[in-house]
Order: sequence, then structure tokens, then C-alpha cells
Amino acid sequence: MTRCALCDRIDTSSEYRCTCGGPLQLDHFKGSIKEGGNVWSAYRDFFPYNLSKEDSLGEGNTPLIRAKRLSTKFGINLYLKNETVNPTWSFKDRGTIFGIKRALELGYKRIGTVSTGNMAASVACYGAYHGSRILVLVPTDIHEDKIGQISIYGPEIIGVEGDYGELYYESLDMDDIYFINSDNPYRIEGYKSMAFEIASDIDASHVIIPTSSGGLFRGIVKGYEELFQNHILSDLPKFIAVQAAGCSPIHRAFEEGEPVKRWGPPHTIAKAISNPFPPSGDAVLRKLKELKGTCAAVNDHGIIEAQKNIARDGIYCQPASAVGVAALPQLINDMGQGSKVVSLITGSGMKVEGRSTKVNTVTMSDLREKI
Ligand SMILES: [Zn+2]
Repeated sequence: MTRCALCDRIDTSSEYRCTCGGPLQLDHFKGSIKEGGNVWSAYRDFFPYNLSKEDSLGEGNTPLIRAKRLSTKFGINLYLKNETVNPTWSFKDRGTIFGIKRALELGYKRIGTVSTGNMAASVACYGAYHGSRILVLVPTDIHEDKIGQISIYGPEIIGVEGDYGELYYESLDMDDIYFINSDNPYRIEGYKSMAFEIASDIDASHVIIPTSSGGLFRGIVKGYEELFQNHILSDLPKFIAVQAAGCSPIHRAFEEGEPVKRWGPPHTIAKAISNPFPPSGDAVLRKLKELKGTCAAVNDHGIIEAQKNIARDGIYCQPASAVGVAALPQLINDMGQGSKVVSLITGSGMKVEGRSTKVNTVTMSDLREKI
């Protein structure tokens, strides 16, 4: 059963969005942890699908590394959840696999995504592996290098003129294509696996989440909530959403106590988290308020410094993944000495380079004919 993450209404009329505009999500799961196996089998009560060996490319089950140098520097126990070792080098694979399962269950032959980076690469990869036709919609001004990793998997890539934020909503009306976008309800379910892995490793006091569309934040929180509701955990960590200052609509709304409003053109090196109008933004705000979480924004200088420091603790991450560590100087006073803090390292620093390819472009009004 799906329920709106914003207004709590039960809604079965749509796959993706409530009539109020909020994102839909599956109801909370009940269950217990099973003995042995990886996260997908041990926590199978909490996922919408059981994954077989044939489904998987080895996503999830990533290392949680104690950041020695940074822990000393800040006087806390800092752990980095290394998502760069996923099949397409980012956390997106955890959600893509359930999105693909859902699309195949509903009988779709074509699967799409609106993304310029990590998610497009992930959907293109898993779609190719499962034999689906993949459509990736990108803005026309995308740099050719950016689609290098996406194109190797052989999807159809179309550049669409006009407002890229609108394209998210436009895509959801395309009936013959299943869209696995940033906050697709099944994608969110996959992200819970990260919460399960962290909770089975350590009793975290704080979990820091790089936040763009809000999908990852919602998945982590939902995972922890399900552990709490099923008496597997006795309390929740404090959740911290971090954005890049050059594109921080959720942070601005959090500070002002207002709903999320569209940001202007993003200006940040953290391209992977530069969604100017996050489709799950208000749902993130709701959870931050309910669970007494907090929200921070960090500038590019801090992001670059944090990226270097994370590398010296063993992980080469993309700039967007460094925002959590970049926010530590402004968070540390509230954390207390010796806190167990987890920062999610969402994607690899190797992401930026790749082979180039030419992209066909269309106007948004011609898009339907073109596909
Ligand atoms: Zn609603």
C-alpha cells in the first residue's frame, strides 16, 4: 500500500505522486532480522522484493570505515559509509535494483530516468543487465564528458530543451515508460538497506546525509524508523541533511520555516546534489521537524577541503559526497566529544571523467513524438 510522505493520505491511483503533490511511499514494513547472509537476505522482511543472485550486481553491503585522521581532528568517532564501491560507483544502485524489479513486475518494456549523473549511470547499467530499453533524459547543455559513463551501457540519451526541473513531472505522465527517478517509491525502499547496514555495525548518534532531491534522506530515515518500530533499535540517531550552499533550497526553507521554494541556477562544484527544486524537499522538512534533525549548507571551498581530507582517510569521493565532512565544523559543538557520527560517502571521485558521445536534442513539446 502506498501512502503520501507529506499528507499521509493512502493513495493507490498513482505510482509516484499524491494528489497533494507529495511523494508516495510504501507503508512501513513489519518483521525481524534473519540469520546470516547479506543485507538483502537478512532484512528481507523489510523489502518489497526478495533479490535472487540473478537480480544482483553486488550492490550494497559496503564498508563502514573509521576515519582515523578526521576523528582525531574533530574529537569524535567519525565513520564513512563507502558507497563508491557499488557496481556503478554510487549509492544509487541500491535503489535502482528495486525500481527495475517494480518495472518488470508491472510488465514495462521501457524504463526511463531524468538524471545527468549517478542515477542515469545506475539505471542504464541495471536496465542493460536486465534486458530493458532505457531512456535517459538530460538537459541540452550537458557537457559531453558528463555522459561518458552513462553512454557505455547503451541507453537512448535525449537532451530536452526547457526547464529541467519540470522534466521530472513531465516524465511521470509518460504511460508507456516506467520512470525510476530520484524519489521513486521503490528506489526509496532500496536506500533503507544503508540504514540497516549502519545500524548492524554501530550504534550511531548522528547520521549525516548529502541531500539534493531528498530521496536518499527519506530512505535512510524510513529504514531507521522501521528498525525502531519493530523494536530492533531502542532509539534513533539524529539525522542531518547537508546541502551545497550554491544550491540549498531545503536548507533555506529549514532556516525560514517555510515550504521549499525553487532555487535559481545552481552554482556549486557539488553537481550531483544540485537539484534546484527537490521533489521530496517538503517531505524532508517534515521529517527533520518531527525527529528534531537539523540541516546545514557548506560552500565550495569547504567541500574541496573536505574531499581532500576524506581522500587522506582512504576514500576518493566526488565533491557532493564531501558535504557531510565539510559541515562538521558547524555541527561539532552540538555533537559532543566521542559521538559516533556516520557521514555517507555517496559516490566516487572517478565519476567525472569518461568517454564522450553526441546527444540528440528535442524541445519538451516534441519529446513524446521523439520517444
Ligand atoms: Zn499527499
